Amino acid sequence: MSVKVLIVEDEEALQGLLEYNLQKEGFDVVIEGDGGEALTAIAEHSPDVILLDWMLPNKTGIDICRAIRADREIHEIPVIMLTARVEEEDKLRGLNHGADDYITKPFSVSEVIARIRAVLRRSNPALASDTATFGDLSLNRADMRVMRGDRQIKLGPTEFRLLEVLIQRPGRVYSREQLLDRVWGQEVYVENRTVDVHVGRLRKALRQSGKPDPIRTVRSAGYALDETYSG
Ligand code: CA
Repeated sequence: MSVKVLIVEDEEALQGLLEYNLQKEGFDVVIEGDGGEALTAIAEHSPDVILLDWMLPNKTGIDICRAIRADREIHEIPVIMLTARVEEEDKLRGLNHGADDYITKPFSVSEVIARIRAVLRRSNPALASDTATFGDLSLNRADMRVMRGDRQIKLGPTEFRLLEVLIQRPGRVYSREQLLDRVWGQEVYVENRTVDVHVGRLRKALRQSGKPDPIRTVRSAGYALDETYSG
């Protein structure tokens, strides 16, 4: 399962260490070194979890964390604070400002990975398990099988991946750029219109069961699984 981790950290050695090891674990990794750019990076990449350094250029981790919690679009994203400070008081301050967990430097990479998995299990069990469900839809990542009720839905790999992204957070609207980034990756150049084509194919496949299409088009914004749909 591809989970996207945004690392907001200005120390290059730590950026490299975390990026290398998290990628090795199968995470998608995005790095931002400037505190002032953190919120822009969150909006752009829509991460599943954020590792947030405490002391950053231009904006502190605490200020960023507070801003995340105050923003309806992103307030549910789990945040793990990284800090060199060891005082208990600081730890509490971090948690008071909305951090989900707190790791003190120096840390071991395996500890970071364990904490990421733990906050993901709490915040979004669908991300931590092989099976994600929504209404009468179920998607199994291990065997790439999609069921609607008791009927199997045949999907191409791109449509599977699209559904996998949408089903992670029903109701969340994904822009075409975010879907491009998550489904095709940042390295590939694909036109926005391609997203519409594949969403169209996904919808058609989902309708083959004779039931309505659970995907909502949000004008000039993107696509989402319709939260009001109950299957
Ligand atoms: Ca720092």
